[in-house]
Amino acid sequence: MKADTLGRRAIPFVDLARQIEELRPELLSALTAVVDARAFIQGPFLEAFERDFASFTGAARVLGCANGTVAISLALEAAGIGIGDEVIVPAHTFAATAAAVCHVGAKPVFVDIEPAAYAIDAAQVVDAVTPRTKAVLPVHLYGVPADLEQLVDQLRGKGISIIEDAAQAHGATLRGKPVGSWGAAATYSFYPGKNLGAFGDAGAIATSDDMVATKVRKLRDHGRQSKYVHDVIGYNHRMDGMQGAILSVKLKYLARWNEHRRALAARYDSRLKSAGFKTIQPPRGAVPVYHLYIVEVSNRDTVQNVLKANGIESGIHYPVPLHRQPAYAHLAGGRTLPVTERIASRIVSLPICGHLQDDDQDYVIDTFLASAKP
Ligand SMILES: *Cc1c(COP(=O)(O)O)cnc(C)c1O
Repeated sequence: MKADTLGRRAIPFVDLARQIEELRPELLSALTAVVDARAFIQGPFLEAFERDFASFTGAARVLGCANGTVAISLALEAAGIGIGDEVIVPAHTFAATAAAVCHVGAKPVFVDIEPAAYAIDAAQVVDAVTPRTKAVLPVHLYGVPADLEQLVDQLRGKGISIIEDAAQAHGATLRGKPVGSWGAAATYSFYPGKNLGAFGDAGAIATSDDMVATKVRKLRDHGRQSKYVHDVIGYNHRMDGMQGAILSVKLKYLARWNEHRRALAARYDSRLKSAGFKTIQPPRGAVPVYHLYIVEVSNRDTVQNVLKANGIESGIHYPVPLHRQPAYAHLAGGRTLPVTERIASRIVSLPICGHLQDDDQDYVIDTFLASAKP
């Protein structure tokens, strides 16, 4: 049991302290190795992580980069998406998904989600396609794989790329197929709070397309063809060697942490569903990794206040849909997206991570059930 400074029970939303404590000697010696090799930018520690993460996720090739947002824009640019193009994006996602589309000069076109797994609605994607549509950017939100089978079928032969935002779904699979293997490329974030988190910002692109890989490799490092020759206008979107070294250490434990998250989600599901609450329904054959655990309530402010008063952190992912955000509303033309809007006002995220203990989870559930209304 964890306690705050006054000795009260305290349940953090993500318990990084316990994770770091568990791995401290190994993490520090990985950092020392980077310092001793002075391999600060990209280099052998990044390359080792790229190989390890490719085999973990079943990707042909992984390219590390500075963060999960530029991972998306690099993947889009490498797939040939740019000025004047339209990219279909679910309105229910983190703002970075749409920002990255704008960063390459393309226009995000927001569509609604389906109410079971809260993933992009394939039927609405088809309705939103125009002659300018060059890509669809589905998001495996909360670590639950979006079922992209229908979408892939519907887009076949239309010249529309699928780029998967897998920032929350490291290691999730659907009917034996890893997330990230449906489209031209998939992108990951290793923000510290993600299932696999660095000691700072970091991200990656996974792809089986050699041309995309070659372009990403150049674009992330100043457009270099070789040390002194720049054949495209590139960026500095590189990953630090330190982040690669930290991620390689943590990756060895990720399967176990994801397994623990699934066990926690199953315990949440069984008690919350039997009390009449709606929680996420992963698609058939999914092995989710539950980056977040969300549940719908009709009295969210009260629930969050009661949790907070009892030392329990909670979150909302996300309360303001992208088509209602000040930065993006002008792109939506005032359209309403009913499923997105309904759940944005109802969802609350409860603590879940590789280090949440069962008795602490029971305390979260008891506190939640004492205040929440379906
Ligand atoms: C975290 C996240 C990103 C952005 O990743 P950063 O590493 O913070 O840039 C993009 N999309 C989704 C769905 C995310 O959760």
